[in-house]
Amino acid sequence: MPNTDALALVDKYYSNYGSRARELKAAGNKILGYLSALGPVEIMTAAGSVPLRLKGNVSEPITKADAHMETIACPFIRNVFDSALKGRYDYLDGMVMPHQCDSTDKTSNVWSHNLGLPYWHFLNVPHLADDPSVGFFTSVLGVFKKSLEKFMGREITDKDLARAVEAYNENRRAMRELYSLRRFVPPLISGVEMTKVLVAAMSLPVDESTSLIKGVIREVQERAAHSGATSSPRVMIIGDQIDNTAIAEIIEGAGAELVMDHLSLGSKIYWPDVDVTADPLAGIAERYLRKVKLPTTFVAGGDTYEENLEARFGHIRDFITEFKVNAAIIFVYKYCDPYGFEVPALKDFIESTGVRVLYLEDEYSTSTLGRVKTRIEAFLEMIE
Ligand code: SF4
Repeated sequence: MPNTDALALVDKYYSNYGSRARELKAAGNKILGYLSALGPVEIMTAAGSVPLRLKGNVSEPITKADAHMETIACPFIRNVFDSALKGRYDYLDGMVMPHQCDSTDKTSNVWSHNLGLPYWHFLNVPHLADDPSVGFFTSVLGVFKKSLEKFMGREITDKDLARAVEAYNENRRAMRELYSLRRFVPPLISGVEMTKVLVAAMSLPVDESTSLIKGVIREVQERAAHSGATSSPRVMIIGDQIDNTAIAEIIEGAGAELVMDHLSLGSKIYWPDVDVTADPLAGIAERYLRKVKLPTTFVAGGDTYEENLEARFGHIRDFITEFKVNAAIIFVYKYCDPYGFEVPALKDFIESTGVRVLYLEDEYSTSTLGRVKTRIEAFLEMIE
């Protein structure tokens, strides 16, 4: 890929989300939708299917989903479901829904009944991350693998899984290299651009995603880096699936730099690799349950409260140091209990590093952006 094409391609996949999956479907591939950082993409890829992470449309009001789904499901889930009902993903062959939070667990049947896809699998992810839970999750992944073999009409061998694990680890290495270019002052890639890359990447087969990320790296490396201090606040955003540029535009429009995230489509999926293990499913289970630190999974560790906080959030402090963050925005969707429950401890932990924190709870919609903008701008004015 020539050095000047990658960001243009990112724009295309961001603006026309799922267009590549639609093409691949027309070419005879099976497309499997999934939600959240818990989608075991290695197994879906090893089966020969194309995994597509689903997103909604923040600019479109929910007009169909509320006839089927409780309005106390989080606005993200309702919006994605609304998009699916309106035919945005009419090329899907199936879906994988993780046991994650009430908004996914309690609506799985609503999705499967209304979408009527040929394949549906509810993945029973445990909430604890101790040894018995990892063992249990390994067997849950075995059940998933078997059901996928039946649907795809082919065996998934350990070699297939090992190849997929290596492909995703390479993808994660490439994305982490791109993230490292955000450590520059100012960063070599803006938060708006990075958001588009993250969204585009989750819509592509893994090898195409890796190639696109490497193209973006080559392209942005050519930008001249300044050196020395800047007076712009350096912001980290924390939350679940923030898959549009609206908030990054607000942050950067206020003169700050969005330099890091801890989002479920960002650093949460690109940081810990899957270990290469004799039983590939065991390595996948270990990563998704224990190495990825999601609020939906209780990551135990330590004998005291402080030690437990360190086990849960220590990596966020490392990001703060590495990316020179001096302001953090925690953005939680309304009715999201797992993320909401974590806020007090997380906020205290981040503030203990000297970084100021803004906590926002809002919609998955551009209709409320005005108030979000006011809060973010007022917060950034206080950052020196
Ligand atoms: S935003 Fe929260 S409630 Fe909604 S799907 Fe994610 S974890 Fe569940």
